[in-house]
Amino acid sequence: MPQQLDSSTREALEARLRFYRDLGMTEFYRRPVDPELIATVRASESSETTQTIYPEESQTIPHRKSFPAAPEIAAAVAPSERNAALELIRQEIGDCTRCALSTGRNKVVFADGDAKARLMFVGEGPGADEDAQGIPFVGRAGQLLNNMITAMGLKREEVYIANVVKCRPPGNRTPEPEEANTCSPFLFRQIDVVRPEVLVALGATAATYLLGQRQPLAGLRGRVHSFRGTKLIVTYHPAFLLRDPRQKKEAWADLQIAMRELGLKPPSRG
Ligand code: SF4
Repeated sequence: MPQQLDSSTREALEARLRFYRDLGMTEFYRRPVDPELIATVRASESSETTQTIYPEESQTIPHRKSFPAAPEIAAAVAPSERNAALELIRQEIGDCTRCALSTGRNKVVFADGDAKARLMFVGEGPGADEDAQGIPFVGRAGQLLNNMITAMGLKREEVYIANVVKCRPPGNRTPEPEEANTCSPFLFRQIDVVRPEVLVALGATAATYLLGQRQPLAGLRGRVHSFRGTKLIVTYHPAFLLRDPRQKKEAWADLQIAMRELGLKPPSRG
């Protein structure tokens, strides 16, 4: 049996995996480790303080399930009826227990913004602040998203914001495929109601579950995809940009594609 990692090692490992995930690297494989190397390292460590991180070689990584077919695109909803249509979806979600994320959440985080928005953002899932308030993107990443929206010449109230999963994954881990695939049909229905002209996927998880394909973010950015009758643009998640601000320039280039598709010009600074 492999021993448990101590909490600081686990947190460092999770942070590193989040960083790779934000870059669009989502598949990781364990390689067999040379037993002689393990023996050498173990011998050099104190037997009392050693926390082994070597997996048993017989342990296998479960094969990823393929993506289920997305539901058919729903009939268009008149702009005046969109709030009511979204409320029906919210009521249907209710006090949801359809996936394992229900056990650790505080609030279901449905969405925020204008039901008649021309632009919609889709993130991965709620964090601690969002879970506490029941509103998406209200923490530090949310403040950066607000700044990005302002830079585009828009107000947050003018766009619509939702996530792939509506309940906070424990420790902000990536949603499991089963969780994302269980929750995302609600997101697809929200998209069908709002019918934004442009959809921006924030990060690899949003891009993966919207496009139904697992691909590095680099291969998806910089172009316009088609999704449920809407133009879809892929960029970095604001939380990733907080960790690596050097990539903000790249994200701005992606947002400029969205602005071009919407016919928007950045606000003048004068
Ligand atoms: S994440 Fe979605 S499917 Fe899972 S419990 Fe929450 S609302 Fe339900």
